[in-house]
Amino acid sequence: MSIQTINPYTNTVEKTFDPATPQEVEETLQRADAAFQAWRTTSFSQRSTLMQRAGDELAGNTDYYARIISLEMGKPLAQARGEVNKCAMVCHYYAQHAEEFLQDEDIRTSAVRSFISYEPLGTVLAVMPWNFPFWQVFRFAAPALMAGNVGLLKHASNVPQCALAIQEVFDKVGFPQGCFQSLLIGSREVEQLIKDNRVKAVTLTGSEGAGAKVASVAGNEIKKTVLELGGSDAFIVLADADVEAVAKKAASARLINTGQSCIAAKRFILEKPIAEAFLAAFSENMQKKRTGNPLEDEDIDYGPLARVDLAQELTEQVERSVAAGAKLYLKGGQPDPEKALFHPAILTDIQPGNPAYLEEFFGPVALVFVAEDAQDAIRIANDSPFGLGGSIWTNDIKRGQELARQVEAGAVFVNSIVASDPALPFGGVKKSGYGRELSYLGIREFVNQKTIWVG
Ligand code: NDP
Repeated sequence: MSIQTINPYTNTVEKTFDPATPQEVEETLQRADAAFQAWRTTSFSQRSTLMQRAGDELAGNTDYYARIISLEMGKPLAQARGEVNKCAMVCHYYAQHAEEFLQDEDIRTSAVRSFISYEPLGTVLAVMPWNFPFWQVFRFAAPALMAGNVGLLKHASNVPQCALAIQEVFDKVGFPQGCFQSLLIGSREVEQLIKDNRVKAVTLTGSEGAGAKVASVAGNEIKKTVLELGGSDAFIVLADADVEAVAKKAASARLINTGQSCIAAKRFILEKPIAEAFLAAFSENMQKKRTGNPLEDEDIDYGPLARVDLAQELTEQVERSVAAGAKLYLKGGQPDPEKALFHPAILTDIQPGNPAYLEEFFGPVALVFVAEDAQDAIRIANDSPFGLGGSIWTNDIKRGQELARQVEAGAVFVNSIVASDPALPFGGVKKSGYGRELSYLGIREFVNQKTIWVG
Protein backbone atom coordinates (compact mmCIF):
# COMPACT_ATOMS: atom_id res chain seq x y z
CA MET A 1 0.00 0.00 0.00
CA SER A 2 1.40 3.44 -0.84
CA ILE A 3 1.67 5.99 1.93
CA GLN A 4 -1.03 8.48 1.08
CA THR A 5 -3.69 10.73 2.48
CA ILE A 6 -6.88 9.88 0.59
CA ASN A 7 -9.97 11.75 1.74
CA PRO A 8 -12.42 8.84 2.10
CA TYR A 9 -15.45 11.11 1.67
CA THR A 10 -14.38 12.44 -1.73
CA ASN A 11 -12.07 9.53 -2.58
CA THR A 12 -9.39 11.95 -3.78
CA VAL A 13 -5.67 11.71 -3.12
CA GLU A 14 -4.68 14.71 -1.01
CA LYS A 15 -0.99 13.97 -0.51
CA THR A 16 1.53 11.23 -1.23
CA PHE A 17 4.59 10.58 0.92
CA ASP A 18 7.91 8.96 0.04
CA PRO A 19 8.66 6.06 2.34
CA ALA A 20 11.75 6.44 4.53
CA THR A 21 14.95 5.23 2.84
CA PRO A 22 17.12 2.55 4.51
CA GLN A 23 19.53 5.36 5.47
CA GLU A 24 16.72 7.33 7.13
CA VAL A 25 15.54 4.22 8.99
CA GLU A 26 19.07 3.68 10.28
CA GLU A 27 19.37 7.29 11.43
CA THR A 28 16.01 7.04 13.18
CA LEU A 29 17.10 3.91 15.06
CA GLN A 30 20.36 5.58 16.07
CA ARG A 31 18.51 8.63 17.35
CA ALA A 32 16.11 6.42 19.33
CA ASP A 33 18.93 4.46 20.91
CA ALA A 34 20.88 7.57 21.85
CA ALA A 35 17.73 9.21 23.23
CA PHE A 36 17.01 6.17 25.39
CA GLN A 37 20.41 6.27 27.10
CA ALA A 38 19.66 9.77 28.37
CA TRP A 39 15.89 9.49 28.79
CA ARG A 40 16.11 6.44 31.06
CA THR A 41 18.07 8.50 33.60
CA THR A 42 15.50 11.30 33.83
CA SER A 43 13.31 11.57 36.92
CA PHE A 44 9.57 10.94 36.94
CA SER A 45 9.08 14.60 37.68
CA GLN A 46 10.99 15.65 34.54
CA ARG A 47 9.05 13.20 32.38
CA SER A 48 5.81 14.20 34.00
CA THR A 49 6.31 17.89 33.22
CA LEU A 50 6.75 17.09 29.54
CA MET A 51 3.86 14.61 29.39
CA GLN A 52 1.59 17.11 31.10
CA ARG A 53 2.56 19.63 28.42
CA ALA A 54 1.81 17.09 25.66
CA GLY A 55 -1.68 16.73 27.13
CA ASP A 56 -2.06 20.52 27.30
CA GLU A 57 -0.94 20.87 23.69
CA LEU A 58 -3.62 18.40 22.57
CA ALA A 59 -6.35 19.87 24.76
CA GLY A 60 -5.52 23.38 23.57
CA ASN A 61 -5.56 22.52 19.87
CA THR A 62 -8.25 19.89 19.51
CA ASP A 63 -9.67 21.31 16.30
CA TYR A 64 -6.30 21.42 14.54
CA TYR A 65 -5.51 17.78 15.28
CA ALA A 66 -9.12 16.62 14.81
CA ARG A 67 -9.19 17.95 11.24
CA ILE A 68 -6.16 15.84 10.33
CA ILE A 69 -7.91 12.74 11.72
CA SER A 70 -11.19 13.41 9.90
CA LEU A 71 -9.43 14.24 6.65
CA GLU A 72 -7.46 11.01 6.60
CA MET A 73 -9.92 8.44 7.93
CA GLY A 74 -13.33 10.08 7.64
CA LYS A 75 -14.73 10.18 11.17
CA PRO A 76 -17.13 13.03 11.94
CA LEU A 77 -15.22 16.05 13.24
CA ALA A 78 -17.00 16.11 16.61
CA GLN A 79 -15.88 12.51 17.22
CA ALA A 80 -12.33 13.38 16.15
CA ARG A 81 -12.29 16.25 18.67
CA GLY A 82 -13.44 13.76 21.31
CA GLU A 83 -10.57 11.48 20.35
CA VAL A 84 -7.99 14.26 20.71
CA ASN A 85 -9.39 15.20 24.13
CA LYS A 86 -9.18 11.60 25.24
CA CYS A 87 -5.52 11.58 24.21
CA ALA A 88 -4.96 14.67 26.34
CA MET A 89 -6.59 12.81 29.21
CA VAL A 90 -4.30 9.76 28.90
CA CYS A 91 -1.21 12.02 28.83
CA HIS A 92 -2.37 13.79 31.97
CA TYR A 93 -3.29 10.49 33.61
CA TYR A 94 0.15 8.94 33.21
CA ALA A 95 1.89 12.24 33.97
CA GLN A 96 0.15 12.06 37.35
CA HIS A 97 0.26 8.32 38.09
CA ALA A 98 3.33 6.77 36.45
CA GLU A 99 5.60 7.28 39.44
CA GLU A 100 3.14 5.62 41.80
CA PHE A 101 2.62 2.69 39.35
CA LEU A 102 6.36 2.06 38.98
CA GLN A 103 7.54 2.61 42.53
CA ASP A 104 9.84 -0.02 44.00
CA GLU A 105 7.70 -2.73 45.54
CA ASP A 106 9.05 -4.30 48.72
CA ILE A 107 8.25 -8.00 49.17
CA ARG A 108 8.89 -9.64 52.52
CA THR A 109 11.23 -12.67 52.20
CA SER A 110 14.22 -14.06 54.13
CA ALA A 111 16.40 -11.30 52.58
CA VAL A 112 17.47 -8.18 54.46
CA ARG A 113 15.50 -6.43 51.74
CA SER A 114 13.93 -7.75 48.55
CA PHE A 115 11.97 -5.68 46.12
CA ILE A 116 10.77 -5.32 42.55
CA SER A 117 12.28 -2.50 40.52
CA TYR A 118 10.50 -1.53 37.28
CA GLU A 119 13.04 -0.50 34.67
CA PRO A 120 12.58 0.60 31.05
CA LEU A 121 13.45 -1.71 28.16
CA GLY A 122 14.54 0.72 25.45
CA THR A 123 13.03 1.40 22.03
CA VAL A 124 9.49 0.03 21.71
CA LEU A 125 8.06 -0.29 18.22
CA ALA A 126 4.35 0.50 17.85
CA VAL A 127 2.54 -0.80 14.75
CA MET A 128 -0.74 1.06 14.77
CA PRO A 129 -4.06 1.21 12.86
CA TRP A 130 -6.08 3.98 11.27
CA ASN A 131 -9.39 3.65 13.15
CA PHE A 132 -8.46 5.79 16.17
CA PRO A 133 -5.25 7.14 14.67
CA PHE A 134 -4.41 9.36 17.65
CA TRP A 135 -5.89 7.42 20.56
CA GLN A 136 -4.28 4.07 19.72
CA VAL A 137 -0.89 5.77 19.60
CA PHE A 138 -1.19 7.92 22.74
CA ARG A 139 -2.60 4.97 24.68
CA PHE A 140 0.76 3.30 24.01
CA ALA A 141 3.05 6.33 24.07
CA ALA A 142 1.97 8.00 27.33
CA PRO A 143 2.77 5.02 29.59
CA ALA A 144 5.76 3.85 27.52
CA LEU A 145 7.53 7.22 27.63
CA MET A 146 6.65 7.78 31.29
CA ALA A 147 8.27 4.42 32.08
CA GLY A 148 11.50 5.67 30.49
CA ASN A 149 11.21 3.89 27.15
CA VAL A 150 11.37 5.61 23.79
CA GLY A 151 8.75 5.10 21.07
CA LEU A 152 9.00 4.34 17.38
CA LEU A 153 5.75 4.52 15.44
CA LYS A 154 4.94 2.66 12.24
CA HIS A 155 1.47 3.99 11.58
CA ALA A 156 -1.06 2.66 9.06
CA SER A 157 -0.23 3.75 5.51
CA ASN A 158 -3.46 5.75 5.13
CA VAL A 159 -2.81 8.08 8.10
CA PRO A 160 0.70 9.55 7.49
CA GLN A 161 -0.31 13.09 8.46
CA CYS A 162 -1.61 11.80 11.79
CA ALA A 163 1.72 10.02 12.31
CA LEU A 164 3.68 13.21 11.67
CA ALA A 165 1.33 15.35 13.76
CA ILE A 166 1.77 13.03 16.75
CA GLN A 167 5.55 13.33 16.55
CA GLU A 168 5.04 17.09 16.27
CA VAL A 169 3.15 17.07 19.60
CA PHE A 170 6.06 15.46 21.43
CA ASP A 171 8.71 17.59 19.68
CA LYS A 172 6.81 20.82 20.23
CA VAL A 173 6.47 20.42 24.00
CA GLY A 174 10.17 19.66 24.44
CA PHE A 175 10.64 15.90 24.58
CA PRO A 176 14.30 15.27 23.71
CA GLN A 177 14.92 14.47 20.06
CA GLY A 178 14.48 10.74 19.39
CA CYS A 179 12.12 10.07 22.32
CA PHE A 180 9.20 9.62 19.98
CA GLN A 181 9.58 9.24 16.22
CA SER A 182 7.26 8.35 13.36
CA LEU A 183 8.71 6.28 10.56
CA LEU A 184 6.81 6.40 7.28
CA ILE A 185 7.35 2.87 6.05
CA GLY A 186 5.24 0.11 4.55
CA SER A 187 4.31 -3.04 6.45
CA ARG A 188 6.96 -5.07 4.61
CA GLU A 189 9.69 -3.06 6.36
CA VAL A 190 8.42 -4.00 9.83
CA GLU A 191 10.15 -7.39 9.95
CA GLN A 192 13.61 -5.86 9.59
CA LEU A 193 12.85 -3.34 12.30
CA ILE A 194 11.75 -6.05 14.74
CA LYS A 195 14.96 -7.95 14.02
CA ASP A 196 17.12 -4.90 14.79
CA ASN A 197 18.91 -5.23 18.14
CA ARG A 198 17.98 -1.70 19.11
CA VAL A 199 14.25 -2.52 19.04
CA LYS A 200 13.43 -4.26 22.32
CA ALA A 201 9.68 -4.90 22.14
CA VAL A 202 6.65 -4.46 19.88
CA THR A 203 3.04 -3.50 20.37
CA LEU A 204 0.47 -3.91 17.60
CA THR A 205 -3.16 -2.91 17.28
CA GLY A 206 -4.88 -4.15 14.14
CA SER A 207 -6.06 -7.27 12.38
CA GLU A 208 -5.43 -10.86 13.40
CA GLY A 209 -3.25 -11.40 10.31
CA ALA A 210 -0.96 -8.47 11.05
CA GLY A 211 -0.80 -9.48 14.72
CA ALA A 212 0.15 -13.07 13.94
CA LYS A 213 2.86 -11.98 11.52
CA VAL A 214 4.42 -9.42 13.86
CA ALA A 215 4.22 -11.73 16.88
CA SER A 216 5.86 -14.61 15.01
CA VAL A 217 8.81 -12.45 13.93
CA ALA A 218 9.13 -11.04 17.46
CA GLY A 219 8.80 -14.54 18.92
CA ASN A 220 11.73 -15.71 16.83
CA GLU A 221 13.75 -12.79 18.17
CA ILE A 222 12.57 -13.47 21.76
CA LYS A 223 11.06 -10.01 22.02
CA LYS A 224 8.03 -9.10 24.09
CA THR A 225 4.78 -8.26 22.28
CA VAL A 226 1.40 -6.86 23.22
CA LEU A 227 -1.37 -7.52 20.69
CA GLU A 228 -4.70 -5.71 20.59
CA LEU A 229 -6.59 -7.30 17.72
CA GLY A 230 -10.14 -7.56 16.52
CA GLY A 231 -13.32 -8.20 18.42
CA SER A 232 -16.89 -9.26 17.84
CA ASP A 233 -18.37 -7.97 21.06
CA ALA A 234 -21.65 -9.38 22.27
CA PHE A 235 -24.41 -6.98 23.33
CA ILE A 236 -26.71 -9.20 25.40
CA VAL A 237 -30.23 -7.94 26.05
CA LEU A 238 -32.12 -9.84 28.75
CA ALA A 239 -35.89 -10.12 28.86
CA ASP A 240 -36.19 -7.68 31.79
CA ALA A 241 -34.35 -4.83 30.01
CA ASP A 242 -36.03 -1.57 28.97
CA VAL A 243 -36.40 -2.35 25.25
CA GLU A 244 -36.81 1.20 23.90
CA ALA A 245 -33.96 2.71 25.91
CA VAL A 246 -31.55 -0.16 25.25
CA ALA A 247 -32.35 -0.27 21.52
CA LYS A 248 -31.26 3.36 21.30
CA LYS A 249 -27.97 2.56 23.07
CA ALA A 250 -27.53 -0.47 20.82
CA ALA A 251 -27.59 1.65 17.66
CA SER A 252 -24.97 4.00 19.13
CA ALA A 253 -22.86 1.05 20.31
CA ARG A 254 -22.84 -0.47 16.81
CA LEU A 255 -22.05 2.83 15.08
CA ILE A 256 -19.13 3.97 17.26
CA ASN A 257 -16.54 5.28 14.81
CA THR A 258 -18.82 4.30 11.89
CA GLY A 259 -18.66 0.74 13.19
CA GLN A 260 -14.88 0.60 12.87
CA SER A 261 -13.98 -0.01 16.48
CA CYS A 262 -12.59 -3.18 17.95
CA ILE A 263 -14.94 -2.69 20.94
CA ALA A 264 -18.04 -1.65 19.01
CA ALA A 265 -20.98 -3.94 19.78
CA LYS A 266 -21.20 -6.31 16.83
CA ARG A 267 -23.32 -9.29 17.88
CA PHE A 268 -26.70 -8.45 19.41
CA ILE A 269 -27.93 -11.42 21.40
CA LEU A 270 -31.57 -11.03 22.41
CA GLU A 271 -33.53 -13.10 24.90
CA LYS A 272 -36.53 -14.52 23.03
CA PRO A 273 -39.44 -12.72 24.78
CA ILE A 274 -38.15 -9.25 23.78
CA ALA A 275 -36.39 -10.17 20.52
CA GLU A 276 -39.04 -9.02 18.05
CA ALA A 277 -39.83 -5.73 19.77
CA PHE A 278 -36.14 -5.00 20.30
CA LEU A 279 -35.22 -5.68 16.69
CA ALA A 280 -37.92 -3.30 15.42
CA ALA A 281 -36.81 -0.51 17.79
CA PHE A 282 -33.13 -1.15 17.05
CA SER A 283 -33.68 -0.97 13.30
CA GLU A 284 -35.62 2.27 13.68
CA ASN A 285 -32.75 3.81 15.66
CA MET A 286 -30.16 2.62 13.15
CA GLN A 287 -32.13 4.30 10.35
CA LYS A 288 -32.35 7.57 12.28
CA LYS A 289 -28.58 8.02 12.23
CA ARG A 290 -27.34 10.73 9.89
CA THR A 291 -24.34 10.90 7.60
CA GLY A 292 -22.64 13.68 5.67
CA ASN A 293 -19.27 15.30 5.06
CA PRO A 294 -17.14 14.54 8.14
CA LEU A 295 -15.14 17.77 7.78
CA GLU A 296 -18.08 20.10 7.19
CA ASP A 297 -21.32 18.73 8.61
CA GLU A 298 -21.18 19.06 12.38
CA ASP A 299 -24.40 17.24 13.17
CA ILE A 300 -23.74 13.77 11.79
CA ASP A 301 -23.47 10.36 13.40
CA TYR A 302 -21.35 8.48 10.90
CA GLY A 303 -18.98 9.17 8.04
CA PRO A 304 -17.70 6.99 5.22
CA LEU A 305 -15.52 4.00 6.07
CA ALA A 306 -11.82 4.81 6.15
CA ARG A 307 -11.02 3.34 2.72
CA VAL A 308 -13.00 2.17 -0.31
CA ASP A 309 -11.46 -1.32 -0.12
CA LEU A 310 -12.72 -1.66 3.48
CA ALA A 311 -16.28 -0.84 2.35
CA GLN A 312 -15.97 -3.32 -0.52
CA GLU A 313 -14.72 -5.99 1.86
CA LEU A 314 -17.69 -5.39 4.16
CA THR A 315 -20.11 -5.63 1.23
CA GLU A 316 -18.51 -8.91 0.28
CA GLN A 317 -18.84 -10.23 3.85
CA VAL A 318 -22.57 -9.37 3.85
CA GLU A 319 -23.03 -11.07 0.46
CA ARG A 320 -21.28 -14.23 1.63
CA SER A 321 -23.38 -14.30 4.81
CA VAL A 322 -26.64 -13.92 2.87
CA ALA A 323 -25.57 -16.62 0.41
CA ALA A 324 -25.02 -18.89 3.43
CA GLY A 325 -28.56 -18.31 4.74
CA ALA A 326 -28.52 -15.07 6.77
CA LYS A 327 -31.29 -12.51 6.15
CA LEU A 328 -30.92 -8.76 5.65
CA TYR A 329 -33.45 -7.25 8.07
CA LEU A 330 -32.15 -3.75 7.26
CA LYS A 331 -30.49 -3.51 3.86
CA GLY A 332 -28.21 -0.48 4.25
CA GLY A 333 -24.89 -1.09 2.52
CA GLN A 334 -22.78 0.69 -0.08
CA PRO A 335 -24.85 2.94 -2.38
CA ASP A 336 -21.87 3.25 -4.75
CA PRO A 337 -19.36 0.36 -4.96
CA GLU A 338 -16.57 2.82 -5.81
CA LYS A 339 -17.15 4.94 -2.69
CA ALA A 340 -16.41 4.30 1.00
CA LEU A 341 -19.89 5.21 2.26
CA PHE A 342 -21.77 2.31 3.88
CA HIS A 343 -25.21 2.74 5.46
CA PRO A 344 -26.16 0.79 8.62
CA ALA A 345 -27.41 -2.74 8.00
CA ILE A 346 -28.78 -5.59 10.15
CA LEU A 347 -28.35 -9.31 9.54
CA THR A 348 -30.54 -11.96 11.24
CA ASP A 349 -30.94 -15.76 11.00
CA ILE A 350 -27.21 -16.35 11.36
CA GLN A 351 -26.43 -20.04 11.89
CA PRO A 352 -23.15 -21.48 13.21
CA GLY A 353 -20.67 -21.71 10.35
CA ASN A 354 -22.06 -18.61 8.60
CA PRO A 355 -19.35 -15.96 7.92
CA ALA A 356 -21.30 -13.58 10.16
CA TYR A 357 -21.07 -16.14 12.99
CA LEU A 358 -17.28 -16.28 12.81
CA GLU A 359 -15.83 -13.11 11.33
CA GLU A 360 -15.39 -9.58 12.60
CA PHE A 361 -17.57 -7.07 10.69
CA PHE A 362 -15.56 -3.84 10.82
CA GLY A 363 -18.28 -1.39 9.83
CA PRO A 364 -21.95 -0.56 10.47
CA VAL A 365 -23.42 -4.05 10.12
CA ALA A 366 -25.23 -5.46 13.17
CA LEU A 367 -25.45 -9.23 13.60
CA VAL A 368 -28.56 -10.33 15.49
CA PHE A 369 -29.07 -13.63 17.34
CA VAL A 370 -32.04 -14.86 19.38
CA ALA A 371 -31.35 -16.80 22.61
CA GLU A 372 -33.69 -19.16 24.47
CA ASP A 373 -32.68 -17.73 27.85
CA ALA A 374 -29.81 -15.95 29.61
CA GLN A 375 -27.57 -19.04 29.73
CA ASP A 376 -28.14 -19.62 26.02
CA ALA A 377 -27.17 -15.97 25.41
CA ILE A 378 -23.88 -16.52 27.27
CA ARG A 379 -23.28 -19.70 25.25
CA ILE A 380 -23.76 -17.82 21.96
CA ALA A 381 -21.59 -14.91 23.19
CA ASN A 382 -18.75 -17.31 24.02
CA ASP A 383 -19.08 -19.29 20.78
CA SER A 384 -16.77 -16.83 19.00
CA PRO A 385 -13.09 -16.80 18.12
CA PHE A 386 -12.85 -13.34 19.71
CA GLY A 387 -12.84 -12.17 23.33
CA LEU A 388 -12.32 -8.43 23.56
CA GLY A 389 -15.38 -6.83 25.19
CA GLY A 390 -19.08 -7.35 25.76
CA SER A 391 -22.08 -5.85 27.49
CA ILE A 392 -25.14 -7.13 29.33
CA TRP A 393 -28.36 -5.15 29.60
CA THR A 394 -30.75 -5.98 32.44
CA ASN A 395 -32.73 -4.38 35.21
CA ASP A 396 -31.18 -6.86 37.67
CA ILE A 397 -27.71 -5.44 38.36
CA LYS A 398 -26.71 -8.32 40.63
CA ARG A 399 -27.56 -10.94 38.02
CA GLY A 400 -25.83 -8.80 35.37
CA GLN A 401 -22.58 -8.95 37.33
CA GLU A 402 -22.83 -12.71 37.84
CA LEU A 403 -23.40 -13.24 34.12
CA ALA A 404 -20.56 -10.81 33.28
CA ARG A 405 -18.11 -13.22 34.92
CA GLN A 406 -19.23 -15.95 32.49
CA VAL A 407 -18.45 -13.97 29.33
CA GLU A 408 -15.06 -14.86 27.82
CA ALA A 409 -13.73 -11.35 27.20
CA GLY A 410 -11.20 -8.80 28.47
CA ALA A 411 -13.97 -6.43 29.58
CA VAL A 412 -17.70 -6.77 30.25
CA PHE A 413 -19.91 -3.78 30.95
CA VAL A 414 -23.30 -4.06 32.65
CA ASN A 415 -25.84 -1.50 31.39
CA SER A 416 -23.15 0.58 29.68
CA ILE A 417 -21.58 0.72 26.26
CA VAL A 418 -18.06 -0.77 26.28
CA ALA A 419 -15.43 1.99 26.34
CA SER A 420 -11.82 2.35 27.41
CA ASP A 421 -10.81 4.33 30.48
CA PRO A 422 -7.18 5.20 31.31
CA ALA A 423 -7.67 3.82 34.83
CA LEU A 424 -8.85 0.37 33.72
CA PRO A 425 -6.97 -2.37 31.86
CA PHE A 426 -7.84 -2.85 28.21
CA GLY A 427 -7.14 -5.93 26.09
CA GLY A 428 -8.48 -9.28 25.02
CA VAL A 429 -8.43 -13.03 25.30
CA LYS A 430 -8.68 -15.66 22.52
CA LYS A 431 -8.04 -14.20 19.02
CA SER A 432 -8.48 -10.67 20.34
CA GLY A 433 -4.89 -10.70 21.53
CA TYR A 434 -2.97 -10.62 24.77
CA GLY A 435 -1.37 -8.21 27.17
CA ARG A 436 -3.03 -5.15 28.60
CA GLU A 437 -2.93 -1.45 27.86
CA LEU A 438 -3.88 1.42 30.19
CA SER A 439 -4.11 1.31 34.02
CA TYR A 440 -1.11 0.26 36.15
CA LEU A 441 -1.06 -3.04 34.26
CA GLY A 442 -0.46 -1.32 30.91
CA ILE A 443 2.59 0.63 32.07
CA ARG A 444 4.11 -2.58 33.45
CA GLU A 445 4.03 -4.39 30.07
CA PHE A 446 7.17 -2.77 28.68
CA VAL A 447 9.43 -2.75 31.72
CA ASN A 448 11.92 -5.14 33.20
CA GLN A 449 10.20 -6.30 36.37
CA LYS A 450 13.48 -6.81 38.16
CA THR A 451 14.02 -8.61 41.47
CA ILE A 452 16.64 -7.02 43.70
CA TRP A 453 17.74 -9.09 46.68
CA VAL A 454 19.89 -7.78 49.49
CA GLY A 455 21.34 -10.58 51.62
P1 NDP B 1 -4.09 -4.07 9.41
O1 NDP B 1 -4.12 -4.94 10.58
O2 NDP B 1 -3.57 -4.63 8.13
O3 NDP B 1 -3.23 -2.75 9.75
C1 NDP B 1 -2.87 -2.36 11.07
C2 NDP B 1 -1.40 -1.98 11.10
O4 NDP B 1 -0.60 -3.15 10.87
C3 NDP B 1 -1.00 -1.00 10.00
O5 NDP B 1 0.01 -0.15 10.49
C4 NDP B 1 -0.45 -1.91 8.92
O6 NDP B 1 0.42 -1.25 8.03
C5 NDP B 1 0.27 -2.95 9.76
N1 NDP B 1 0.48 -4.23 9.10
C6 NDP B 1 -0.38 -4.89 8.30
N2 NDP B 1 0.14 -6.08 7.91
C7 NDP B 1 1.36 -6.17 8.48
C8 NDP B 1 2.39 -7.15 8.45
N3 NDP B 1 2.27 -8.27 7.77
N4 NDP B 1 3.51 -6.92 9.15
C9 NDP B 1 3.64 -5.78 9.85
N5 NDP B 1 2.71 -4.81 9.92
C10 NDP B 1 1.57 -5.00 9.26
O7 NDP B 1 -5.52 -3.47 9.17
P2 NDP B 1 -6.26 -3.03 7.81
O8 NDP B 1 -6.07 -1.60 7.62
O9 NDP B 1 -5.89 -3.87 6.64
O10 NDP B 1 -7.75 -3.39 8.21
C11 NDP B 1 -8.20 -4.71 7.98
C12 NDP B 1 -9.00 -5.22 9.14
O11 NDP B 1 -8.23 -5.21 10.35
C13 NDP B 1 -10.22 -4.42 9.52
O12 NDP B 1 -11.28 -4.65 8.67
C14 NDP B 1 -10.44 -4.89 10.94
O13 NDP B 1 -11.10 -6.12 10.95
C15 NDP B 1 -9.05 -5.06 11.47
N6 NDP B 1 -8.61 -3.88 12.26
C16 NDP B 1 -8.74 -3.93 13.60
C17 NDP B 1 -8.41 -2.83 14.36
C18 NDP B 1 -8.55 -2.84 15.84
O14 NDP B 1 -8.70 -1.78 16.46
N7 NDP B 1 -8.47 -3.98 16.49
C19 NDP B 1 -7.91 -1.59 13.76
C20 NDP B 1 -7.79 -1.67 12.32
C21 NDP B 1 -8.13 -2.77 11.63
P3 NDP B 1 -0.09 -0.78 6.57
O15 NDP B 1 -1.21 0.18 6.80
O16 NDP B 1 1.10 -0.17 5.98
O17 NDP B 1 -0.55 -2.03 5.89
